[in-house]
Amino acid sequence: MRYVSTRGLPGQLGKGFCDILLEGLAPDGGLYLPEQYPVVDTATLQRWRALLADEGYAALAHAVLSLFIDDIPSDDLRGICERAYNDTVFSDPAIVPVTRLSDGIWLAHLSNGPTAAFKDLAMQLLGQLFEYELARRGTELTILGATSGDTGSAAEYAMRGRRGVRVFMLTPAGRMTPFQQAQMFSIDDPAIVNIAIDGVFDDCQDLVKDVAGDLDFKQRYHLGAVNSINWARLVAQVVYYVAAWLRVTTTDAERVSFCVPTGNFGNICAGHVARQLGLPIDTLVLATNENNVLDEFFRTGVYRVRSAAETHETSSPSMDISKASNFERFAFDLLGRDGERIRELFGVQLPQRGWFDLSDTREFAALRERYGFVSDSSTHADRLATIAATWHEHHVLIDPHTADGVGVARRFVEPEVPMIVTETALPVKFAATIVEAIGVEPPRPAAFLGLEDLPRRVISLPRDPEALKSLIADVVDGRP
Ligand SMILES: *Cc1c(COP(=O)(O)O)cnc(C)c1O
Repeated sequence: MRYVSTRGLPGQLGKGFCDILLEGLAPDGGLYLPEQYPVVDTATLQRWRALLADEGYAALAHAVLSLFIDDIPSDDLRGICERAYNDTVFSDPAIVPVTRLSDGIWLAHLSNGPTAAFKDLAMQLLGQLFEYELARRGTELTILGATSGDTGSAAEYAMRGRRGVRVFMLTPAGRMTPFQQAQMFSIDDPAIVNIAIDGVFDDCQDLVKDVAGDLDFKQRYHLGAVNSINWARLVAQVVYYVAAWLRVTTTDAERVSFCVPTGNFGNICAGHVARQLGLPIDTLVLATNENNVLDEFFRTGVYRVRSAAETHETSSPSMDISKASNFERFAFDLLGRDGERIRELFGVQLPQRGWFDLSDTREFAALRERYGFVSDSSTHADRLATIAATWHEHHVLIDPHTADGVGVARRFVEPEVPMIVTETALPVKFAATIVEAIGVEPPRPAAFLGLEDLPRRVISLPRDPEALKSLIADVVDGRP
């Protein structure tokens, strides 16, 4: 299996999985995708059904990932999957259980990991893959990232204790929820460094870009990233689409639909890959909040990046995006894998004027039929109403992001086709909105009791790349 860039030229040689694992973004600014998607037959789906039932999620992950990863020996890959997906890491031995909500709607529970958000499912695998590959190459990695919430904590819980990996994570001082702050800052590991920046999230991201842009520094300290454009994170997510389909159906001809709360198009892009693989997915329902960049594209064919001033701060904050960094992957497939056209759209038109328009193209006309996508968006009032209704009618408490999904899913349910909503976080992470919706605090899983009382480890820095560089250098070089 070779991987090519969405902005690559025809005839360009592909790269192996482990190379793009450590690379992240392609040198031409594009994102990596398999040269061709593998396609599975009914016999394989049958084998996967037995595998999940008999041996569990890690075994299924090994089987699915083996289609995409051929530069790690199979036994080693099995060990990686077993270390990432087991009941010491996830609170439910099923890893991704499903429950029936109502009216043909199911929930796939993706929030049983250490930080109670679906990002754990990808990050846990990434942590194991990094440790394995760094040891094999005899090198190390310094992850430098910026977060306004779930990504940072999922990364830190996945990377702590991994040999050869250090993490420097920037957060905007005072901006995350109290729970999210406590979750990150209570980690007690010298290789995990939390940094509170006097500024907003964009300032944190600018600092990361500044420091990573110093190529001498980047090379000397082995800087790398864990953002959602890493293909390894996407491919890890394909596994839970397979698992959810297996758990909701009993025969291999049964189709299901998925509704996915969406920000950067990472989660639902894995659904797209699963559908290309041949998983019997009928419709992929994309659900956004008020930041409806993607909903607008799927309804009109116009993709328009928002300015900072146009980006709403909502009660589903992990979906508050101004552009969707993974969308380029889907566009590449939609436009017949034409790297030159992607380069023109994403490398020229978007930076120059902030939008492009595919509404008149035959590809956009065939989008629903060919790729199964529909979309809609929701508002704060929709979220509150959905949280309250799901609680009062079905006695299930969902978080605001999952509520974006459930609310939109209701508008697209068809008889005979189960609609699976991907639960993206536990309500405990977003207590204020839960209280607003139903008047009571969300329950707190035992693992998070007393979290806010633990000692906090966080270093405050000004918005200054030189200060950040000297901190990284001191920590990596072992100066006090
Ligand atoms: C990251 C995140 C999302 C958005 O996922 P994308 O992959 O960016 O589309 C939605 N909900 C929660 C809780 C998240 O952490």
